Amino acid sequence: MSAPMNLTPSGFGIRQKITIILLGIIMISLVFTGSLYHYKSQESIEKVVVNHLRTVANNKKMLVYQVLRKYHDRVSLIGSRTQLRRSIQALDSANSPEAHERLIARIDTIITDAQAPMKNIRDIVIVDPQGHVISSTSSQYARHSMMETSLPTEKKAYHIAFSQDDNGQTSLFITQRMMLDRALIGYVVLEMNLNDFAVITDTQYGLGSTEETTLVYKTPFTGEISPIYPESLTLGYDRNTWVNPFVLVRDKDDDIGTYLDHRGREVLAVAYTFKDLNLGLVYKIDYADALGIIGEQKQFLAVASLVTALLGGIAVLLLSRTITKPIIDLTYVAAMIANGDLTQRIRYFTKDELGMLAKAFNQMADKLIDANRVLEQRVSEKTLELFQANETLAKLNRDLELLSLKDALTNIANRRAFDHRLDTEWKRCHRDQTPLALIMMDIDYFKRFNDTLGHGAGDACLKQVAAVLERSAQRGSDLVARYGGEEFAVLLPNTALEEACAVAEKIRTAMTLEHIDHPDSPIASHVTLSIGVGAMVPESNRLPPDYLQAVDAALYLSKDKGRNAISTILEPRSSAL
Ligand code: GH3
Ligand code: MG
Ligand code: MG
Repeated sequence: MSAPMNLTPSGFGIRQKITIILLGIIMISLVFTGSLYHYKSQESIEKVVVNHLRTVANNKKMLVYQVLRKYHDRVSLIGSRTQLRRSIQALDSANSPEAHERLIARIDTIITDAQAPMKNIRDIVIVDPQGHVISSTSSQYARHSMMETSLPTEKKAYHIAFSQDDNGQTSLFITQRMMLDRALIGYVVLEMNLNDFAVITDTQYGLGSTEETTLVYKTPFTGEISPIYPESLTLGYDRNTWVNPFVLVRDKDDDIGTYLDHRGREVLAVAYTFKDLNLGLVYKIDYADALGIIGEQKQFLAVASLVTALLGGIAVLLLSRTITKPIIDLTYVAAMIANGDLTQRIRYFTKDELGMLAKAFNQMADKLIDANRVLEQRVSEKTLELFQANETLAKLNRDLELLSLKDALTNIANRRAFDHRLDTEWKRCHRDQTPLALIMMDIDYFKRFNDTLGHGAGDACLKQVAAVLERSAQRGSDLVARYGGEEFAVLLPNTALEEACAVAEKIRTAMTLEHIDHPDSPIASHVTLSIGVGAMVPESNRLPPDYLQAVDAALYLSKDKGRNAISTILEPRSSAL
């Protein structure tokens, strides 16, 4: 089994990529739509605010006109009083100082009476056509002194002017020309305080707390701009920093815009000028105050964007998880299968292409298991076949081995088996210091047997002799072998010479009893054996072939004796051993 694969992707995984891309899309569209919406709504809010400001300013302008008209009505009322005009006209023709004084007193009474019901009047002054004071309701203007306030030109019936004293108190002077019999007889001048203008500033229109309305006067000739109302505002300011409505409006009557006001704040201001009266009106509000709603909207947008981004982020994470989970499962299971664990399967399927892929993958794993099973079965079948073939082969080998150790004709041990066994027993008996006996035999006149009875009978005879020998040497450790053509040997471990001789005798007797006919034997009527017997404890300086040779010599001794005899190696002729 190979080492498990590393399942962590190097670099950005699919999940991260999807998350980044989708979050990017969400954020870009959020910022884009948010900015667009903000820009659009700011534009429309500004439009609404500006319209509102214009309406309010217009309203205030109407109020100023109303106040001025009221003043005009008043001054007209006084100026048109016949008694007053006649008394003024009569002054020129008064023929005595007493008469002149009487007329003045009358004028004083008339204007004092006129002032009484009128609110906010500081003074009523009657001036002659040259501007000298004729009469005044206060001592402020001495008789015959020159009225400083400019008088209306020829064309205008009345004139309005403002003036400020050293205490910053502002007065409005409204002057009406007085005519009698188509001739100018003088002027009536009303000096008013500005309390009536309170109606302009007292009214709040709910746009914001920084709303401010100011009346501005442009001094003729010098062109200097002075704020005149509200009086409380006129003192503390540097006049040069006042928003100058005459500059703002230029050729028009009114205009709106953003400016830095006397406090250095950005304000949204509507300016209006009453040009022939040298009067201007500025209605302003702090920009931040008027459009505070935009700031709030910005905040709302920011919070909404943040919440949307957060929710979007969560949605994206869930989405990317849904997309990548099957891929990760697939990768994991594939790696496990590649690692040899074929039991792993993908358990959860989506209904999309990935789900189909996962199903196909599972089927592939099933097929793999089937294929493996077939393969295993084939292998085990082949193994069994091989095993059986091996068994047969082993049996054949064993048979061959046996065949190689057995004599084919007599089915007793052959010369090879005998030699091998002699070697083994030689060593063992040497080790145990026990005697190893050996009997060597040769069929007498066997050639003649063959010649007389045929080769087949010879073979049968050989088999019969072998059977006789096997019956005669019955100990488990005894070995009967065919040593050569018609020669046999019997190996008798742990057997002394006497015992071996007894076995030899037993064999000779058995041969007699077996009585295999031998018609051409000169010594007997049956087949006989010449026998050599030996027994010795193997010595280290002797070898089995020497021993064999010695016993063989004993055998030939028996031949020499006349055959059908038994000789031992201890007999004198075997002393060579
Ligand atoms: P001796 O008494 O001196 O041993 O005389 P003998 O005839 O037995 O000895 P010899 O060596 O002259 O002849 C041995 C014969 O044994 C010759 C051979 O044909 C026969 N013979 C050897 N092996 C076989 C065999 O496997 N089958 C048959 N039928 N005959 C065999
Ligand atoms: Mg022989
Ligand atoms: Mg022989």
